[in-house]
Amino acid sequence: MTDVYESLGVSTVVNAAGTKTRIGGSLIREEALEAMREAATAFVLLSDLQAAASERIAAVTGAEAGYVTNGAAGALVLAAAAAIARDDRSVMARLPDTEGVADEIVMPRTHRTGYDHALRTAGATIVDVGTNDPHIGTGAAEVEPWELEAAIGEETAAVAYVAKTYAEPPLTVVTDVAHDHDVPVIVDAAAEVPPVENFHRFVEAGADLVAFSGGKGVRGPQTTGILAGRRDLIRSVAAQNLDMHVSADVWDPPASLFGDLPAGGVPRQGVGRPLKVGKEELVGLLRALELFLEEDRELKRAEWRGRAERVADGLSAIDGVTTRVTAGQKTSVAPEVVVDLDESRTPLTCVELVRALRAEDPRVFVGGDDTADGRFTVNPMCLTDEEAGHVLDRIGAHLA
Ligand SMILES: *Cc1c(COP(=O)(O)O)cnc(C)c1O
Repeated sequence: MTDVYESLGVSTVVNAAGTKTRIGGSLIREEALEAMREAATAFVLLSDLQAAASERIAAVTGAEAGYVTNGAAGALVLAAAAAIARDDRSVMARLPDTEGVADEIVMPRTHRTGYDHALRTAGATIVDVGTNDPHIGTGAAEVEPWELEAAIGEETAAVAYVAKTYAEPPLTVVTDVAHDHDVPVIVDAAAEVPPVENFHRFVEAGADLVAFSGGKGVRGPQTTGILAGRRDLIRSVAAQNLDMHVSADVWDPPASLFGDLPAGGVPRQGVGRPLKVGKEELVGLLRALELFLEEDRELKRAEWRGRAERVADGLSAIDGVTTRVTAGQKTSVAPEVVVDLDESRTPLTCVELVRALRAEDPRVFVGGDDTADGRFTVNPMCLTDEEAGHVLDRIGAHLA
């Protein structure tokens, strides 16, 4: 199974940390892999393929149009590029240079993440507003509608929002303010599906472009993402992502993607051109999306919960270890086992344990964001039952 990694001298990972890109994201669905293999046997016009994807993504999300991108992060680059350039070929040709062009993206300060670098990659300047006050217990809001309003002006290209179950203010508050000023709202919802309803939710709340990962809960190819949104913005996305080395005389792009692009010749290779999506990945993503929609979600949740509870029971039998199982949805869509070590009773500190597990062959990855507090997590999403047993055994061996 894993000879390819062995021949490279690379240890595989038993993944008890959830869908994390740096350890391979998720395991692609078998059927998606088969679709990719088939897609690799013929040539196809990429714009035709994106046009077909647009229809399918529109049907799934309720948006006017859609696009398959290079990860959710790639979707954010393209979203920012579309918001800044719209249909202007000369701006498309200049990005990320935005001199003389409205390039500001306003966002609540509490929504800033490392991923918003993707917005800046297209040339955007981020203007963040609001405060972190709620976290010092003052009762104040993170951002008031008037603060957003005051930040929007001549230089504003878009407002950006990161969708999380704990995100404040509600998205509709933000879309109302933005739309009052004719400014589109870009939503980063990379890790928000499942639940499948979230494919609709942000579009319904007024988002103009929504980015999802294809390689997380959907279990499509690792390098894919989905951008759903307004037809005019997706048209700009396509113009800035597709390969545009085309002779104007014979350029005949699909009307459903480019139909209303104002006349004026073929756009140049855009700022999104390095974010290429291959025909194989695109087809694999669409197949994975179909299967994701068909999946029995209750069954999946029950499976995750059962596995999490077995791991929690097993670990709580170890001296110095207490466990609880979360309800899921906050930072992980699946329930997670939160494991607390009483380091005065365990032979290793939590940091030592997490490091020792990662150094094994195969590497064992548990969630290690709170090790300084003597805490780690076990996420059941990317484990088989057999692997869950291996994780239990290895933790038990270190803490015996
Ligand atoms: C994972 C993630 C991304 C990046 O998604 P990719 O598909 O890996 O590009 C962006 N934003 C958030 C909030 C994420 O969780």
